[in-house]
Amino acid sequence: MKNLKFDSIIVGGGASGLSCALILAQNGKKVAVINKLRLEECNSSYAQGGIAAVIESSDSVDAHVNDTLVAGAGLCNLKHTQHIIESSKDAIKFLLDIGVHFTLDKDSGNNFHLTQEGGHSTRRILHSTDSTGKEITNTLIKNIRANPNIIIFEDHIAIDLILGQKIGLIKNKCYGIYVLDKNKNKVVTFNSHNVILATGGAGKVYLYTTNPDVATGDGIAMAYRAGCNIANMEFIQFHPTCLYHANAKSFLISEAVRGEGGQLKLANGYRFMQDHDQRLELAPRDIVARAIDYEMKKHGHDCVYLDISHKSANFIIEHFPTIYATCKKYGFDMTRQAIPVVPAAHYTCGGIETDLKSRTNVESLYAVGECAYTGLHGANRLASNSLLECIVTAKDAVTDILGKASTEFINLPEWDESWVTNIDEEVIISHNWDELRRAMWDYVGIVRTNKRLERAMHRINLLKAEIHDYYSNFKLSANLIELRNLVLTAELIVRSAMKRHESRGLHFSKDYPGLKDKMETTILNIKDMI
Ligand SMILES: Cc1cc2nc3c(=O)[nH]c(=O)nc-3n(C[C@H](O)[C@H](O)[C@H](O)COP(=O)(O)OP(=O)(O)OC[C@H]3O[C@@H](n4cnc5c(N)ncnc54)[C@H](O)[C@@H]3O)c2cc1C
Repeated sequence: MKNLKFDSIIVGGGASGLSCALILAQNGKKVAVINKLRLEECNSSYAQGGIAAVIESSDSVDAHVNDTLVAGAGLCNLKHTQHIIESSKDAIKFLLDIGVHFTLDKDSGNNFHLTQEGGHSTRRILHSTDSTGKEITNTLIKNIRANPNIIIFEDHIAIDLILGQKIGLIKNKCYGIYVLDKNKNKVVTFNSHNVILATGGAGKVYLYTTNPDVATGDGIAMAYRAGCNIANMEFIQFHPTCLYHANAKSFLISEAVRGEGGQLKLANGYRFMQDHDQRLELAPRDIVARAIDYEMKKHGHDCVYLDISHKSANFIIEHFPTIYATCKKYGFDMTRQAIPVVPAAHYTCGGIETDLKSRTNVESLYAVGECAYTGLHGANRLASNSLLECIVTAKDAVTDILGKASTEFINLPEWDESWVTNIDEEVIISHNWDELRRAMWDYVGIVRTNKRLERAMHRINLLKAEIHDYYSNFKLSANLIELRNLVLTAELIVRSAMKRHESRGLHFSKDYPGLKDKMETTILNIKDMI
């Protein structure tokens, strides 16, 4: 098969990737969007709470920046943070222009209804009831499907980037990407002037996560293998409140429920946040998640309870229609009773290091959205800042790409699988997948120790060797590609955690409970391992 040639290739069809695709296509560029399932299946679709932006005259960029810096516990990049928040008005304008509907304030009629979430000093979260992500992604998808400059490759999973050093061209430059067409079981070579990684986070590294199955850290792993700097992977945000039910697959109960007055209680009705933080339920997520973890371990309980039943049924159903309906489906009426909740892995704060133009340290390779590390989230993400980052980093990448002169395409070598055979036992893949996620949950979760990290690393090394053997000798499958990326992402998390000898933001170590004076970003690069 010949190379498929595009001006830009975007790997990932969430809010960040689709925004890149749309703006590039609106500017006349031929774009491919590669997505491993159908477009709707991404973290972006699941976002409930909303998108943070400075739009009220009583709010200010400085106040939003300050809240972000406080949550980030000293590790935010000030320049990037200021840039992203200064761009928030423009990001909202882009979304409104393409047809996104945000919930309006009932009293004023025209103004947006703004909610408040943990760590924000004021109400500044625009939302579409409690399914903001769905509204944003569905609107983007509608625009994308109508644009003739965009070709969508669903059920296609990216395997690895094609770098100059592997094909005798400019060493530190990306020329394209190998992609598995899942339906035809064939590897396709995509050739382009730029590749944008928009592959989202890595929640599936953990046993319990709010993320959908696609969040396997593929972009971060591919970028690491390509020589990109990977920053601050130790900072994994655990969402404090996911519905605790065997069949609910960690359904998230939005922070907005606490923002609107939800109280966290033990089974006996005791409101325990008063023992942990004076901000009570509106303390930042890491503090709330650790408090829940502490109470569950102390009392030997499987969950705690989130209670908003003191508000009127009308208020609850109007503000949280999806959460209300989902809880009801699982037998909990949140207008009358407290909902059982547990923490789960939610957001990858670290990722592929990028500059103010979303460029990585590999030429012609960009990273946007959750897979990127801009420095906005530092050691902990402020709620609803990530959708904002998706849109702003997408616009930054596009602006840089549009400013570059086009070059000639160079024909790239096809994928060679002449030496591999069909996989003999799929069970090894599913077993390794489960083992990895359980080890990460048990040893690299909310509270860490040196011993636990060493245990995790030991298991990761064994799994990595086995998976490498499989990857080298058998025909590729989507599961194998994801597992290979998952184990590398897990390794990056553990190695980063081992390097941090303090407790900061989302990284809490019993062996290093204090804060160091010097604030350092953890950077990993494959070249340091050679
Ligand atoms: C339940 C939940 C609620 C949230 N609520 C909020 C909120 O209220 N506000 C907020 O700001 N943030 C929220 N977040 C976080 C936010 O949704 C994400 O950070 C953001 O949507 C990420 O967007 P993205 O475009 O970077 O990635 P995603 O939306 O995850 O999209 C990534 C896409 O890449 C594809 N992909 C991955 N690897 C490959 C590969 N190898 N080949 C091909 N395709 C690939 C995936 O299939 C996926 O479609 C929430 C997250 C979750 C899970």
